[in-house]
Amino acid sequence: MIDFELTDDHKSAQQIARDVAHKYLKPRIADLDRENKNDPEFIKRLKDAELLGVCIPQKYGGMGLDYISLGLVCEEMEYVDTSARVAFSVHIGLNSLTLLTWGNEFQKEKYLVPQAKGEKIGTFGLTEPAAGSDAVGILTTAKKAGSKYILNGEKMWISLSEVADMFLIFAWTDTDKQKKRDHTGLSAFIVERTFKGVTTGSITGKLGVRAGKTGWSALSDVEDPAENLLGNEGEGFRIAMSCLDGGRYTVAAGSTGLIRACMDACKDYALTRKTFEVPIAQHQLVKEMFAEMIYGYEAGQYLWMKVGWLRNKGMRSTRETSLAKWFCTDQAEKAAYNAVQIHGAYGFSDEYPVERFFRNSKGAAIYEGTREIHKLMQADYYLGYRTDHPVRCMPPRWEE
Ligand SMILES: Cc1cc2nc3c(=O)[nH]c(=O)nc-3n(C[C@H](O)[C@H](O)[C@H](O)COP(=O)(O)OP(=O)(O)OC[C@H]3O[C@@H](n4cnc5c(N)ncnc54)[C@H](O)[C@@H]3O)c2cc1C
Repeated sequence: MIDFELTDDHKSAQQIARDVAHKYLKPRIADLDRENKNDPEFIKRLKDAELLGVCIPQKYGGMGLDYISLGLVCEEMEYVDTSARVAFSVHIGLNSLTLLTWGNEFQKEKYLVPQAKGEKIGTFGLTEPAAGSDAVGILTTAKKAGSKYILNGEKMWISLSEVADMFLIFAWTDTDKQKKRDHTGLSAFIVERTFKGVTTGSITGKLGVRAGKTGWSALSDVEDPAENLLGNEGEGFRIAMSCLDGGRYTVAAGSTGLIRACMDACKDYALTRKTFEVPIAQHQLVKEMFAEMIYGYEAGQYLWMKVGWLRNKGMRSTRETSLAKWFCTDQAEKAAYNAVQIHGAYGFSDEYPVERFFRNSKGAAIYEGTREIHKLMQADYYLGYRTDHPVRCMPPRWEE
């Protein structure tokens, strides 16, 4: 039975996230966004609130809360700003949950524990200049040399690339398989920023997530100790897909926060702004835009909460996660579009936050599987062209 009532732990995680986001981020986000600046102070506040390990078991330095709590934190973060939620998506959803699922005890102690405590920040490096949706099209290689792997390649569009301490990097360990596009030639590696040959930079001129420090990372003869191979050689593609299940869940939950932010930003405006001698909220076509936002928010919440429930039980949720990610990001885009519309010309200016919401909403329809990729996935599951094969490591069920 799915229980829709939030527990005291859920409410407490939600409140902590709300307090941190409202107190430390909200007053500054418009300026940070305008100046393309990431706020290290805000990341420190998240660490102090223990949120950077919200759903990581206590034995690995986290708070030990469940996956619904992670979703609620993401919703609260993105209510204030998308870049704050992106930090959760890459740090916990794509990186820490993957270490928890695929890491050995040595890797968990060395890398997961400091990440769960917020002492180190993790990110995820799959995309390259020439390959995004088509993960098998990446070119980065990792050549075994004694007790090390030598990594060469370039990663692009990496969130927090100039902030993160640890990268999950995907690379070909079998170049014969690369030529045949056989994904069992891909492997996953933990790479530290301090390793010689790692360089990073920021992408400027972005449409949105401007406080998020999206960037690139180049690997030039990086010597990664063999003990930093995550999982086995050849499991990189499966690990990447498992990362995306975790990340997409956080994107879905966060997007409902963006929808709620749009609704709330529009409510006061529509109740006070008058045209034709009545508040614009009284016009039926304006009401329709509110109705669509409410529909997106409530239905989206049910979808991601179902995924949280499946994850809590240790059940596979790739299909449900893809659906939730597609629906919630799609609805967030529509909500932000309508929020600008409701504000008329004022929505066209950064005097009001809806302009930022509009720009930020676009990215989520692209990262962690574009809208088109999720549509294909849903159709393929239904038509029988796609089924989930068992994987060696599943995200652990939540234990109270
Ligand atoms: C703000 C932001 C943050 C990001 N953060 C990260 C990160 O931290 N780590 C990381 O690894 N990546 C990250 N990415 C990259 C992101 O995951 C990729 O952009 C995404 O996977 C799409 O890849 P692409 O941009 O290369 O587009 P492409 O794959 O080139 O696709 C271009 C277009 O073609 C469509 N298309 C492609 N294949 C098909 C198909 N088979 N059928 C129909 N349509 C298709 C796509 O839907 C899209 O519309 C980020 C991107 C952004 C914008």
